[in-house]
Amino acid sequence: MTEAQFEAIFPIGNDDAPKAYLARRRWPDGVHCPRCGNPKVYDLRSRKWHWQCEQCAPDGYRFSVLAGTIFENTNKPLRQWFKVVHLMTTSKKGVSALQIQRQMGFGSYETAWSMCHKIRAAMIEPAKKLGGIVEVDETFIGGKDQNRHWDKQTHVRGGADKTPVIGAVQRKGNVVARVLDHVTKAAAETFVREMVSEKVSLLATDAYQIYDGLTEYPRQSVKHHLGQYVVGAVHTNTIEGFWSIFKRGVVGTFHKVSDKYLALYVAEFQFRYNNRFNHDIFGAVVSGC
Ligand SMILES: [Zn+2]
Repeated sequence: MTEAQFEAIFPIGNDDAPKAYLARRRWPDGVHCPRCGNPKVYDLRSRKWHWQCEQCAPDGYRFSVLAGTIFENTNKPLRQWFKVVHLMTTSKKGVSALQIQRQMGFGSYETAWSMCHKIRAAMIEPAKKLGGIVEVDETFIGGKDQNRHWDKQTHVRGGADKTPVIGAVQRKGNVVARVLDHVTKAAAETFVREMVSEKVSLLATDAYQIYDGLTEYPRQSVKHHLGQYVVGAVHTNTIEGFWSIFKRGVVGTFHKVSDKYLALYVAEFQFRYNNRFNHDIFGAVVSGC
């Protein structure tokens, strides 16, 4: 969706268009009670975009189109939320809360910041195991030298002030990444077993021994320390490409990301990567809100 398309679908001053869009996305088969799932709800004639469910409350439970979404109980109109979602989904490198604040004309930085984080949380995808050819790799984010050296090859792995992230990508498919407390054999094995199907045709990793216990997988590794990067189909270039998009985003756009919120940025970049061919990425985010 281009900016012009956004403006056409959601004209300024029209409160109904975003609410109708949200209702369609939330309830493609008709309005359901957000509390009990009851599909037999009644339109509240007196209040637009409100319904009543008589199944889950003796006096009837009244709810609006916003009930149970991240848009509930905020003083920002839905159209402004949508605009922020649109800005976040159309920017490849991500947009900072400061950019959002300026572009949206918000008085407070905190407002922009909190909206962005709520939208990131809505981008967290349900886990689905990867198949085919899968690459697994780990990387390190942050630390004092984050603006100088990115390539982990030039470093001792990790370092006390860096946060490890592990990821797996299916070639021509989806990526999945998680923040780890520490890079350990147990953590790496748990991640791979949870995210990667045993039936993959190839599991490509580097020669780091944390993956050695994954004997049920057809694993092959490249020996980066010997200058080996691609041996036939065995390489980790795809996941390294994802790391580089993520790192450029974190450094270039967000400057500093605290460990506490790193997982949310990982979710955002994972979502954008996995929806890179989806023309309806905006709608996909709204559906998760
Ligand atoms: Zn109900």
